[in-house]
Amino acid sequence: MPCPNGDHGRVRVFYTGDPETRIGTAIVWCPDCRQGIYVSRVGIPPGAETLPFDATQEEGDAAVPPAVVLLPPDRAPEQPLRRPTPVVQGA
Ligand SMILES: [Zn+2]
Repeated sequence: MPCPNGDHGRVRVFYTGDPETRIGTAIVWCPDCRQGIYVSRVGIPPGAETLPFDATQEEGDAAVPPAVVLLPPDRAPEQPLRRPTPVVQGA
């Protein structure tokens, strides 16, 4: 999935969830823009990088760097995943 902010790269998806039910949450983030979106209640594809819900802060930071700014949790599930994002000054 390419980054919605431009053609500089692709976003990464990281999952947190239950390995049994394969239902959890996802963080979709761009390593170049350092912006991410938190998505709740997603199905986790087999083989995807996944952390358990009781993972430590260090494990979470290793997966998604603390410098990545996450937009607020999705409160409108009917909205499409891709949404307008702020223009980065000087980009
Ligand atoms: Zn980007």
